[in-house]
Amino acid sequence: MAEVTDEYDVVVLGAGAVGENVADRASRTGLSVVVVEPALVGGECSYWACMPSKALLRPGDVLAAARAVPGAAAAVTGGIDPAAVLVRRDEVAAHWDDAGQVAWLEGAGLTLLRGRARFTGPRVLVVEEADGSLRTVTARRAVVVATGSVPVVPGTFADVRPWTSREATSTHRVPPRLAVVGGGVVATELATAFADLGSEVTVLVRGERLLAAAEPFAGEAVARALTDRGVRVLLGTSVTSAVRDGDEVRLVVERRATAAGDGQDATDRLSVDEVLVATGRRPATDDLGLETLGLRPGDALEVDDRLQVAGVDGGWLFAAGDVTGRTATTHQGKYDARVVGDVIAARFDPRPAAEGHAGGTRQGLSRQAEAEAAPWSRYRATADVGAVPQVVFTRPQVAWVGRTHEQAQRDGVEVEVLAYELGDLGGASVTAEDYEGRVQLVVDVARDVVLGATFVGPDVADMLHAATVAVVGEVPLSRLWHAVPSYPTLSEVWLRLLEAAGR
Ligand SMILES: Cc1cc2nc3c(=O)[nH]c(=O)nc-3n(C[C@H](O)[C@H](O)[C@H](O)COP(=O)(O)OP(=O)(O)OC[C@H]3O[C@@H](n4cnc5c(N)ncnc54)[C@H](O)[C@@H]3O)c2cc1C
Repeated sequence: MAEVTDEYDVVVLGAGAVGENVADRASRTGLSVVVVEPALVGGECSYWACMPSKALLRPGDVLAAARAVPGAAAAVTGGIDPAAVLVRRDEVAAHWDDAGQVAWLEGAGLTLLRGRARFTGPRVLVVEEADGSLRTVTARRAVVVATGSVPVVPGTFADVRPWTSREATSTHRVPPRLAVVGGGVVATELATAFADLGSEVTVLVRGERLLAAAEPFAGEAVARALTDRGVRVLLGTSVTSAVRDGDEVRLVVERRATAAGDGQDATDRLSVDEVLVATGRRPATDDLGLETLGLRPGDALEVDDRLQVAGVDGGWLFAAGDVTGRTATTHQGKYDARVVGDVIAARFDPRPAAEGHAGGTRQGLSRQAEAEAAPWSRYRATADVGAVPQVVFTRPQVAWVGRTHEQAQRDGVEVEVLAYELGDLGGASVTAEDYEGRVQLVVDVARDVVLGATFVGPDVADMLHAATVAVVGEVPLSRLWHAVPSYPTLSEVWLRLLEAAGR
């Protein structure tokens, strides 16, 4: 095949949410930007992750909310209609058609190149297009790797064609019996969704609790709720064998006695229709030609707070999103994307100095500002350390930001922990009969600021942002006292927590 050679100022690998945002912002000072993508523009989040999973979860939330309010509950005469849920999920996932996102990308003045990119040397890549033709693409200024991550599938499951989150979120069939292996965000959300859709779900967790990254009370609440809905949650397990026999998968599960107290060591045999492996993800760097840059294929691309890749000289190689191992959510990856896009737009600003720099520009971008930027400037991804928000759309929802109690202790900070049961609020009694939930703040005693906050309960996802503002803004509790929450809302918990702190 003939080789074609192209040159752009900036080459972005991957058109997921992160790559799209990097490209958009990097182009704002007039740099030419090409985005290389072998699959769907929009990436994992739009088609196989955030969007379809939330579409699967939403009907269960709505039904539960209606059933919790006398006066409305009587109107709920049926259960979830799985076929209708899957139809709506297809719509939310845009029927796996990226025309809308391609139109956006082209409308933003960006060039899309369909193909898979590989480095052949510094700033030089070869792109293999769908028809096998090869195109050499050179970056005059910068390359940003935003190739995301891929699921980790342990060898035990190699021969049983397990589901990963992709098959689960795009399925058109609800398996009667589903085993979910894992206890993190993806595992708990999809266990909730498939239990709602009518699957008999068993969750097999290696550790001693669900959602190990969150405060322990969060995982405990989710485990309790799943169990109440008939899901088997087995902690302290290890799947030692998985065999496919026709339409069925047979699992052997070793279970050790756990601190959670479910007895003694045991071996379970389980037959299911599908196994969903949700045991984590690894950066998609296997086949990027990283060895030509002196980096190790398969490793996460380690970056600093301006998203510049460590170990490569010249200030031209950046990475953002899941591929860095620094973030694992769309929102935080897009935050990093905004930072790296602005860094590139400013550092390589092609406009004449008078227009581009001396007195600042329309965008407020300037080389000098980027070079001298301090933490919390637009050119530094400062919030990635200590201020990352995460929402888990289980029922109850779990949302947290910043440091857990354990993390703060590990960091050697003297903290006070404040907690309040949401069910005791006036707002809770209006929201639902028997509303159950809990909020916990971790407060830095010396600085009088919130280091971390965790919310558990129905509809708490949208309460998180107030906590994120408090953490990022390092707002002293004495000032938070003047942020008066409305009555009767669930946000009134802030007042109760401040009262608990003696304000
Ligand atoms: C089931 C599930 C639910 C989730 N729910 C949420 C949620 O509710 N909220 C949230 O914030 N996060 C959620 N996440 C996480 C979120 O999906 C990811 O953090 C996000 O998609 C990462 O974006 P990215 O752009 O870094 O990578 P991706 O979206 O994976 O995009 C990377 C792109 O790079 C392309 N690519 C790969 N190799 C090459 C190459 N060699 N050359 C060119 N292109 C290449 C890929 O084709 C892909 O399109 C969820 C994840 C899962 C699995």
